Amino acid sequence: MLLSYRIVRARAVPWTRSPWVRRSIVVLLLCCVGAGCSGLGPTLSGHRGSGHGDSADEALEQGNPVRREIALTIDDGPHEPIARQFLDILRAEGVRATFFVVGKRVREHPGVVARMVGEGHEVGSHTATHQRLDTLTEVRIRAQLVGCEEAVRAACGRRMNLLRPPGARYNATAARVAEEAGYHLVGWTVAAKDFVEVPSDLIVDRVLASVGNGSIILLHDDYPETVTALPRIIRALKRQGYRFVTVSEMLAHLSPPVRLERNPPAPEEPIPALVEPGEASQP
Ligand SMILES: [Zn+2]
Repeated sequence: MLLSYRIVRARAVPWTRSPWVRRSIVVLLLCCVGAGCSGLGPTLSGHRGSGHGDSADEALEQGNPVRREIALTIDDGPHEPIARQFLDILRAEGVRATFFVVGKRVREHPGVVARMVGEGHEVGSHTATHQRLDTLTEVRIRAQLVGCEEAVRAACGRRMNLLRPPGARYNATAARVAEEAGYHLVGWTVAAKDFVEVPSDLIVDRVLASVGNGSIILLHDDYPETVTALPRIIRALKRQGYRFVTVSEMLAHLSPPVRLERNPPAPEEPIPALVEPGEASQP
């Protein structure tokens, strides 16, 4: 419950008011005083992995605040034709993003997922059927992970090592199952709240009002208004001097860095999900 609260709170407040960011700024100042501002940045928490954060159960909510970089993340797809339109815009702008895909939609549009990987974007899991992980048994959580893994493996022969829990809902069990399966949990810093249909002007305003160094921006590929907003967001952030990175690149820029291979080749035989007696492996 505490874990869910932490990540939802990060979504609900501007990054400058996040307690995590405040703590990072304090640590940064101490680093600057103590090390002559070496430029290496503070030791960042909020991401998974032993020895990298102050809690192994926290999701990455922001990258390195001393680096002028942004991670664009796009959830819930792929929906067509919007996902393809997103890819066209990203290619035209020379920007790479991270797509958190839903397994059942990957099976409907495998070609667009193959294109994402082929064009240098990162693909992460958003579960098999967009279930809230804090409502599921351990077996069903694992089935949600494996279901998405199998869909992505079938689409492009790759595996994933990033997981964004739907609705930012997860508990200690979900965090442990995800860690055992090799995932890093990913939250966000700035939400456009475009999971409902809102005007593109509002999407642009919401993002630009809250963005900062190391921001993870959350967009969705559900509505055309986001397609209209995307190039405006990218161009405005370019003018402000931001560089676009994938989430695994953002992890590599933490101190100490977390090194992940972006969508490495999948094993030929996937690890089967555990099945509860009398249940199918996928809910
Ligand atoms: Zn979602």
